[in-house]
Parts: sequence; structure tokens; C-alpha cells
Amino acid sequence: MPKVIVVGSTNVDYTVAVDRLPAAGETVLGREFYQSVGGKGANQAIAARRAGADVFFLTKLGTDANGRLLERHLTRMGIPGAGLLRDAETPTGVALIVVDRSGMNQIAVAPGSNWRLTVEEVDRASTLMAGGRALLVQLELPLPVVTAALALAKRHRLMTILNPAPAVPLSSDVLKLVDVLTPNEGEARALTGQDDPADAAQILLARGARRVIVTLGSRGAWLRDAQANQAFPAFRMEAIDSTGAGDAFNGALACALAEGRPLDEAIVFANAAGALTATRRGAQDALPSRRDIDELCRTAIPGT
Ligand code: ADP
Repeated sequence: MPKVIVVGSTNVDYTVAVDRLPAAGETVLGREFYQSVGGKGANQAIAARRAGADVFFLTKLGTDANGRLLERHLTRMGIPGAGLLRDAETPTGVALIVVDRSGMNQIAVAPGSNWRLTVEEVDRASTLMAGGRALLVQLELPLPVVTAALALAKRHRLMTILNPAPAVPLSSDVLKLVDVLTPNEGEARALTGQDDPADAAQILLARGARRVIVTLGSRGAWLRDAQANQAFPAFRMEAIDSTGAGDAFNGALACALAEGRPLDEAIVFANAAGALTATRRGAQDALPSRRDIDELCRTAIPGT
């Protein structure tokens, strides 16, 4: 199996369902409470694993009960324990989420141990990196750590994928290390000030990214690079909750590219993974298996 290396965040998510979101200083009585595993790094690592890749995930947990819980969860999902580093001084990352009846949410993240992953620890993963085919990173870690991972992957000739979420300003020095940049619409706008995905992509290419794929929710994705400037329509689904669709897209894209599939085929595969995730509730629980993704690609025509 081709190897995908993911360097990223892991959190425990605490979610309270409410009728309406609280205003500043207000307490609202909620309904159900859910605890789940999150963090874009963990979600995308598991998405790539379920899509069929052999995954090495480098992340940093605390030595607290949450850290132990996440270690058990990740190893059960087929992620090797060697990349799950520990920090004894900082609690494991958590996200506090309130979500209302319409699906609108408010989220506060305490990155905790995620913020303690260091450039040296990334550099120490050099031999592992050498065995990989694709690197997938997001922006829930300190930017120097993300940059070090991209630079190391480039040295080992891996294909590099940066999902710029949450969006922070990115210099050309960082973007030049990126083979495939995958903002969603909001992130593309935040990075460039452009509403139109093709215009935003053009700016990001000019700043140094080699290819840009803007994900557009139920409208699919837009690819722009030196040759292409084209839409990839979404698979039409009965969507009920798009949480995690972007993570599914990125994990599946990394898996397909690590398998050496052409980019257009990889985008269709990723669109299928995103679409399936939107038909199920939750983030990680909604991530589709390889069988489900292949089945949708075989039986449905995107956009129809
Ligand atoms: P994010 O979760 O980061 O905001 P998007 O909402 O753009 O990302 O979704 C990522 C991908 O998931 C899209 O490019 C698309 O392929 C798929 N997707 C998301 N929502 C739907 C939907 N309602 N119907 C079909 N596909 C969807």
C-alpha cells in the first residue's frame, strides 16, 4: 500500500447541541452532549486510511486521560503508535463546540499539546518520510512546524498537499513547497480576498503553489494549474451534515495521489469521499471506506 504521511493536530471534541447559540456573556441550557475525536490532522489521517492508504501520522498528545483515549482510538483505526508523541507538561488539545438546530456552530479550540510539536521532532521523522509517497498537512500546528514538514517532504520527493485550514497568511516561501493547495471557498477568500474560486486560485498559483484545488461543498471542486482551469462537479447526494467533508476530500485525495493516479481521477475519487461524508452525521464516524468510494465512482456520474 502506498504511504501517506500526515503531520497534524488531534483533539478531543466536546459538543453541546443547543436550540440557539449563546450571545456574549449568556448561558443557554443545551440538549445532548457528545464527545468525539477530532482535529483536522487526525480526521484526515483516518480519512486517508479508510480510503485505502497506509498512513503514518505524526501528532502530539498529552500524557493525560484524553491522550490515552486518543492513542487507543488512533491505533484501533490502523494508525501506527510510533507517530503519536507525548508531552507531559501540556494537556491534550480540546475543542469546545456548540451547535444549534440549523447546524450553525461556535467553536473554541485549546490546541494544548498540538502546539508543542517541534521542528526537531519533524526532522527526526526523516527516515519515515523517505518511505512515503505523499505528505498531507493542515494549519492547526505552528506554521514553522508545517513548513519544516513540507520542506522535508520536498527533499524526499514526496508529493506535498497543504489544506490551508484554518486560513492564516502564507508567504511565497511556504507556497513554493506546495504541490497541491486545497482551500475551501472561505479559506480561498481569506487567503486572497477574491470571491471567485478561479481568481483566488490564480493568485495562489502566482504566489508559488503548483496546483490549487478549491473545494466548493455541494458544487464540487475547482482545479487550476498551469494547464487546467476547470470544474469537477460534485456527486449529487441527499446531504444531511457536511461536517468532515473537507477532511474526507483531503484524505482521499492524498491516498489517490500516493497511489500514483492522475490528478483528475484523484479529484473525482476525493469528491466521492466528500459527498459520502455529507450523507452521514458527525466527522470521523461519517468517513467512507474504500469500497464505498469505489462503488460511488463506478455507479454515479458527478453533476447528474
Ligand atoms: P469543508 O468541509 O472544508 O468546508 P467543502 O464543504 O468544500 O469542505 O466539502 C469538501 C468536498 O466534499 C467538496 O469539494 C465536495 O466534493 C464534497 N461535498 C461537500 N458537501 C457536499 C454535498 N452537499 N453534496 C455533495 N458533495 C459534497
